[in-house]
Amino acid sequence: MDNTIPIPGLVIQGDGSYALTIECPNGIITPEVIDTLSRVVKELGITVHITTAQKIMLLGLDQKTGRRAIELLEEGGAGVRKARDISQPRVCVGKPYCKLALQKTFPFGEYIYKELARIPIPPKLKVAVAGCPACCSWANMVDIGFSGRKSGFVVMLGGHGGSRPKEGCEVGRISSPEEAGEIIKRLAAMFSRHVKIKSRMDRLMEKIGIEELKRAIGF
Ligand code: SF4
Repeated sequence: MDNTIPIPGLVIQGDGSYALTIECPNGIITPEVIDTLSRVVKELGITVHITTAQKIMLLGLDQKTGRRAIELLEEGGAGVRKARDISQPRVCVGKPYCKLALQKTFPFGEYIYKELARIPIPPKLKVAVAGCPACCSWANMVDIGFSGRKSGFVVMLGGHGGSRPKEGCEVGRISSPEEAGEIIKRLAAMFSRHVKIKSRMDRLMEKIGIEELKRAIGF
């Protein structure tokens, strides 16, 4: 087996081992995937890490165990992340579960994952949805965030974490997952056109100006 050929889904780590990531839309994992995951971990003796992006990472793989893990996981219905794309948004539980929630978040998470997750992007473009201004899913600290209010969701752009964290800028309001999807689609296209590797949405805002960006997404 040629170990130099990249295997989609396996990402080389600092110590030379490989990792893979399982997507869990809305932070939810099905019983079937739990069963499969348990079998894979027992068979291959690997480490399971819950990421801050509500995904599951398998650590300590080599190419052989990595291939086997992907095969078993996909047979068991798990979505293994294989490309740089929008992927799943980070989503808090929202209504009716959280006592403070002003809005439901799962319909947004579901729609975004179903319709937009596979849009390719050059650098990171993080999306998050929160059911109230508390922003437990960090909707105020990502490239595109939707934060629930009594009526609808505030749209926040250009936030990020890192060593120089920045809060997103409020640019307008929406009320449906379809509107959120349209905004993400338009921004992803602009982002891919204007932005190079290792940049973020706030750079795009600086480059073309916030008013131009708002116009482009329909505000
Ligand atoms: S952001 Fe608001 S609705 Fe979501 S979990 Fe936090 S407090 Fe609850």
